[in-house]
Amino acid sequence: MKVFEGMLNILYPNRCPICQKLLPIGTEPDICEECKDNLHVIGEPKCLKCGKPIDSKEIGYCLDCLRQKHVYEKGWCLWLYDACVKSSISRYKYHNQPCYAPLYAKELLVYYKDEILKHSINRIIPVPLHSKKLKQRGFNQAALIAEIISKEMDIPYDPTLLRRIHDTKPQKALTHKDRYRNVISAFELVEDASIHNLNILIVDDIYTTGSTINSCAKVLLRGGANKIFFIALATGKGLSI
Ligand SMILES: [Zn+2]
Ligand SMILES: [Zn+2]
Repeated sequence: MKVFEGMLNILYPNRCPICQKLLPIGTEPDICEECKDNLHVIGEPKCLKCGKPIDSKEIGYCLDCLRQKHVYEKGWCLWLYDACVKSSISRYKYHNQPCYAPLYAKELLVYYKDEILKHSINRIIPVPLHSKKLKQRGFNQAALIAEIISKEMDIPYDPTLLRRIHDTKPQKALTHKDRYRNVISAFELVEDASIHNLNILIVDDIYTTGSTINSCAKVLLRGGANKIFFIALATGKGLSI
């Protein structure tokens, strides 16, 4: 068995998804202890609405949430989007590392399982990818994480509820106003969706200004959902006034 494990490790080296350091043979795939210590997990003070880190607790909200009304109820972001997290997520998405998904999901649950339980979530869904992008990438990075969270928490998962009807430009390349315009009509609900009174958790990899989650939330609320929450792996620092 040990020999087999050793061979597997040679064929598929078990590396930390953050720093890419080789993990000892026979250990479960995981984020290494050093990265667990060094990753910037977002703590207080953070925006009461979107969960971005902010400078002071007094105002309570980041500038994005003060400037734009977000129709979702509340969201949680795990890590600050620094250089390590950025390169890990980009390897995950663009260099075909779907094996990172369970490790990301595990960390999200370590910190936010209780919050998800507290808000009586009835459905877990990913931010959908446009079919063209899905074909290119081979997987939806948010969907892999969403599915694992749903299994772990025994909450129904529905990746087909929302559809992305426009192949939007990457949000990171756009100004605040253009980000909003870019996604305003990008999503639609499937025709036979039955979401009346449901509390829905949307999963995404990176939360920026909230335009994408907000557009998804609008469509879901219009379709009869009760409250929309989101959870994301990483976010930037929230600007304060
Ligand atoms: Zn590491
Ligand atoms: Zn905010």
